[in-house]
Amino acid sequence: MSVQTISLKNIKMDPALRSEILNNIVSGDPSKCVQCGICTSGCPLGYIIKPHRIVKMVNLGLVEQLISSREIWLCTTCFTCSERCPQEVDPANILFTLRNTASKLGYVPRELVEICMNIVKDGRIIKISAGREKEREKLGLPKAPPVDAEKIRKMLEEVGFLKIIGGTVK
Ligand code: SF4
Ligand code: SF4
Repeated sequence: MSVQTISLKNIKMDPALRSEILNNIVSGDPSKCVQCGICTSGCPLGYIIKPHRIVKMVNLGLVEQLISSREIWLCTTCFTCSERCPQEVDPANILFTLRNTASKLGYVPRELVEICMNIVKDGRIIKISAGREKEREKLGLPKAPPVDAEKIRKMLEEVGFLKIIGGTVK
């Protein structure tokens, strides 16, 4: 996935999307942000994700740029930003809300949809290849434990996973 941060060129404010984000945030309050940057300075991916800037953009209503960006999908959900924030803004949860809105509006990056589809099809993010099994054998490791892909698929169907990620089974 590209590691480019969001461009602020051709910015567009969307009050309706901003309200949707603010109404759906499960915890924290972006309006309390003082732009101290402590969140970004502790972020393990701070060179590509800028939580302080994301919060600022939400406050300014620049939500469309955020939900159509790849930056929001790079967060590792480590919660360091939320732990360190002196204002209890909770940037990590703001990021989750942005992701939820992005998936609702069909902005999930294609690569992520493909990874999710691996879970739907095989019950694993990465399929264990014959080569990998051989390597395990050479190392004296047991065979990788099987997964009940059908059971996982049913569970994912029940929660509407395909609809959420915008995937289709081929
Ligand atoms: S640490 Fe909190 S208050 Fe400081 S910039 Fe980040 S979100 Fe804003
Ligand atoms: S939760 Fe995401 S944005 Fe926050 S510090 Fe961790 S990787 Fe960075």
